[in-house]
Amino acid sequence: MSLLITGSIALDSVKTPLEEHHDLLGGSASYAGVAAGFFTDVNLVGIVGSDFPQPYLELYQKHRMNLDGLEIADGKTFRWSGEYEWDMNNRRTLSVALNVFEKFQPTLPASYRHTPYVFLANIAPQLQLHVLAQMERPRFVVADTMDLWLEIAREPLMELLKKIDCFILNESEARELMKETNLIKAGRGILKLGPKYVVIKKGEHGCLLFGEGHVFSAPAYPLEDLHDPTGAGDCFAGAFAGYLASVDRVDAVSLRNAVIYGSVIASFNVESFSLGRLQTLTPRDISQRYEIFRAMSQFVAG
Ligand code: AMP
Repeated sequence: MSLLITGSIALDSVKTPLEEHHDLLGGSASYAGVAAGFFTDVNLVGIVGSDFPQPYLELYQKHRMNLDGLEIADGKTFRWSGEYEWDMNNRRTLSVALNVFEKFQPTLPASYRHTPYVFLANIAPQLQLHVLAQMERPRFVVADTMDLWLEIAREPLMELLKKIDCFILNESEARELMKETNLIKAGRGILKLGPKYVVIKKGEHGCLLFGEGHVFSAPAYPLEDLHDPTGAGDCFAGAFAGYLASVDRVDAVSLRNAVIYGSVIASFNVESFSLGRLQTLTPRDISQRYEIFRAMSQFVAG
């Protein structure tokens, strides 16, 4: 089954203590779309400016992304820049220029409206709601968010939570949303706000999946080759939703596998800047790392 993805499309500038790169392909929808493309066909909804490089459009197409819902508007593409500390869990946003995003109110192509699986990648919750309202009875809707929206758009975010099946957020966002220090309580609390499932990402420490009456804790890959963590969360969520769409089944087994495939793709993505590593990634690389995750999660009773 195919997957509709909306979110940001950006030209990023990223600085780490060792490297600095400009005008990289970024944005939540770019990372999520390419990650999902390892599992299923993607209908992309987004906007870029006339300065958006043609090779990036070709990259999308190479990764199973349909661009009928991509608007190319007069003006400049959304731009974001950020800087990491030596502890790459800490990032500072240096600048944001919304540019063409400021007036983005997409009308979905008719061919998109029956896409059975939907991933609303990080973008203003008002826009996530606007896209979701145009979908015809989707089978499963996943949404992501960021701390900014908890601060400036809490009301539409709460409305969104009532309309989706699965909410993905990171640990600090979960704590902030629920005003709760304990992550288990925070996850269970978010379930009561609407979604049937909640995934809390814990960066280099793995993630937690909550459903009614169950919690699954996934390990993190012991990564040694970390170059740029940008987009790891978007890749996780894109692969998670893409995997579920590919098996067209949402149950305890498929959800756990989706979490592991999400972790696998995210762990590859951080090995290079932008989408560099995902461009050379093969199905064999994915299945080998999946097996490592499986081995890490197993133990024999002693
Ligand atoms: P992550 O590392 O998962 O937080 O995602 C990083 C991506 O989010 C970058 O490629 C940015 O272009 C994009 N981004 C940054 N700020 C925003 C925002 N306010 N809305 C949507 N996307 C954003």
